[in-house]
Amino acid sequence: MTAPAPKSTILIIDDNADTIRLLSAMVREQGRVLFATSGAAGLELARLQRPQLILLDVEMQGMDGFAVNEQIRRDPDLRSSAVIFVTAQSSPEAEIACLDAGAVDFIPKPLNAPVVQARVRTHLRLQAALATLDDLANQDGLTGLYNRRYFDRQLATEFARHRRHQLPLGVVLIDVDDFKLFNDRYGHQRGDACLQEVAEALIDGSRRPGELAGRYGGEEFVVLLPNTTPEALARYGEWLCRRIAALGIPHPGASAAPHVTASIGLCSLIPADGDTPQAMLHAADMALYRAKRAGRNRSVLADGAEPGEQVA
Ligand SMILES: [Mg+2]
Repeated sequence: MTAPAPKSTILIIDDNADTIRLLSAMVREQGRVLFATSGAAGLELARLQRPQLILLDVEMQGMDGFAVNEQIRRDPDLRSSAVIFVTAQSSPEAEIACLDAGAVDFIPKPLNAPVVQARVRTHLRLQAALATLDDLANQDGLTGLYNRRYFDRQLATEFARHRRHQLPLGVVLIDVDDFKLFNDRYGHQRGDACLQEVAEALIDGSRRPGELAGRYGGEEFVVLLPNTTPEALARYGEWLCRRIAALGIPHPGASAAPHVTASIGLCSLIPADGDTPQAMLHAADMALYRAKRAGRNRSVLADGAEPGEQVA
């Protein structure tokens, strides 16, 4: 017996209610089944529900299956959904056109239950494997946090979203103080364990939806906090400093305290035209540099934070 996999979502888009009933009955054992009777409604549902698999009728009134598929392929939020075309056109040319359009497979009408089930099963399995690979590709091996590549991508996405809605975005850069000394004294294994503990603290501190903690490289970490004002970000920075110090990892050679501490650079802004994610990271990095210069074990807010630097 294998453990039951988390339930997949299958979206059927077809303008014929009988076909929807028939297909639903065939695949309902294989996942949660949703349906829409037009391309537009299907796209809307797909954006909300992120199905693993979309069974897409080619011949539909209005927007046909190819047009719907093109929208799916173009939308970064939908691209990971696999599309199987369902069509009465069963010529080799029609089949090739479906695959060329980026569909993963093709189911001919009239529908045959074992064929439909076998194809759906195969593609749900492949989708699960791809999702696992995706997770691995986005993860930092040592800490399990997101890696820099993934973080940069998410930052770009969130930056654009915050600019659209004119919301304050918060970015946090964290650097473990005197980490080279720690490694020199205790060796790389304990160095790695130290980074893992700091990573745990970051995960504990970023659990709201959309929050994201990553390892930016070496002993440098990064946190993305959606919809966070400078005031809230400053409080987070102070809290995080205390949280990391409270891990109580001995570090007698460190300059700020006899245990492991971190310096933190903060930047919160409502992105305006001309602002870039790179400039925002740079501002956080400059604030981090100031935190180091001011004696480490503290957080500094970029811009206007000059007179009242936040000391943890
Ligand atoms: Mg149709």
